[in-house]
Amino acid sequence: MTAELQSAGQHRRRGLRPTQSWSVVTLVTAHRHADAVARRARAAAGVEPVTILKPRDSRAWIDLYLASARAAARLADEAQRWPWVAAVVVRPYRFSDWQRMLQRECPPLPIGRRWYVVPAERGPVRMPRGRCVLRVVPGTGFGTGHHFTTRFCLERIEEVFDRGGMGRTVLDLGTGSGILAIAAARLGARVVAVDNDPMAVAVAQDHVRLNRVSKYVRVELRDVTQWWPRWKPDVICANLYGPLLLSISEALGRTARRGLILSGLREAEADEVVGPLIRLGWREVVRDGDGEWCGVELRRTTPREK
Ligand code: SAM
Repeated sequence: MTAELQSAGQHRRRGLRPTQSWSVVTLVTAHRHADAVARRARAAAGVEPVTILKPRDSRAWIDLYLASARAAARLADEAQRWPWVAAVVVRPYRFSDWQRMLQRECPPLPIGRRWYVVPAERGPVRMPRGRCVLRVVPGTGFGTGHHFTTRFCLERIEEVFDRGGMGRTVLDLGTGSGILAIAAARLGARVVAVDNDPMAVAVAQDHVRLNRVSKYVRVELRDVTQWWPRWKPDVICANLYGPLLLSISEALGRTARRGLILSGLREAEADEVVGPLIRLGWREVVRDGDGEWCGVELRRTTPREK
């Protein structure tokens, strides 16, 4: 591995700042060589590659996020000589103007009865009684509470854990900013949070530290289309998207012991995702939507076997 290459992990230890610039190296290859190129890229760069495939396209794009422009240039130079790499593109990945604007203008946001989402750079806030502060750096990752799908999950987490009886272990699939994992931890859960985007993993880890729940939350780089845990969490939160939820719905239903909080669906997709779960013995207890997006909560109808 080239010594100068800095991985998201190495950078993470120093703390991800919202103004941080990253470089993205994209390697274009054929679909059938994607695994081999990704393996080589991982070994050379020391960071986890993100492979992007598109339906009916024989190409694959392998993205590597590097914290140093110099390291990115070196990797690009090296990769141009690898077999099967048809093109190499290096581009800066910067926080955009709208993200900066969001940072300045994001007011504290009450959600449900429990939550108060506060931009990280605000000083101490006067907090309504009984609420927990969730600190986020706006613009660093999906999950600030401004989107219906996140709000839905936060409200359901509050219900599930405030009432008790639903266990204490959570798997957060597609953690983004880590906000759901942090909220569950705040209510006493132990959480494994996963995302297939290295940037999201870095940001989530920073947020976990910022919110002082590192003892309770582990963040991992995982692609849920290729990975599934061996253990059985009490509750799974998955704010992903409809087709992905549909493709993993059986696995969700067989893995969670007591509760499923699913979001990121279009309203029209909800029945299709819920159907296989009902057949596995789950009961839909809540469905909510904003006219476009939709979330559902399901519980087991009978206590689950170990
Ligand atoms: N959990 C946060 C929330 O509720 O606001 C973020 C949800 S965001 C809609 C979806 C997240 O899922 C993104 O961070 C994305 O990178 C991640 N994701 C998408 N596909 C994934 C996959 N196959 N495996 C793991 N994570 C995935």
